[in-house]
Amino acid sequence: MGKRWKALRMRRSYQSISSQLREIEGNMKDSIMAKSDWRTIQFFLSVRGVFEVQIDLESEGARCNCPEFKSREGCKHSRYVVKKIRGNNGVYPMKVSSRASQEEIKRANQSTADEFREFVVNYAKIEVL
Ligand SMILES: [Zn+2]
Repeated sequence: MGKRWKALRMRRSYQSISSQLREIEGNMKDSIMAKSDWRTIQFFLSVRGVFEVQIDLESEGARCNCPEFKSREGCKHSRYVVKKIRGNNGVYPMKVSSRASQEEIKRANQSTADEFREFVVNYAKIEVL
């Protein structure tokens, strides 16, 4: 019984994070993250907010929308993602919720940048560094 309650609580907290992301999504549309070949690959939760790392599939470069990245052209979030990619044969080892079906995962890999971002918002684990 205790176990079941815990699982329910976890699901609730996950959903509240997810809806937060949806709220800030509108704001991000106007930012530097908008239209390009950059793909959102990972969200990070911190006390200062939710930050988003995107990678360029061509150059394998990474960028982030946190204040540290802007001032120093690099941050712990982008470094984390690049390190993971380099340690995994050039592919980011994304942690995806079991709620995502194989079909959805397959479709996400062939989708546009916007659709892929939607998939990450809905299913990818948010990392805390
Ligand atoms: Zn960052």
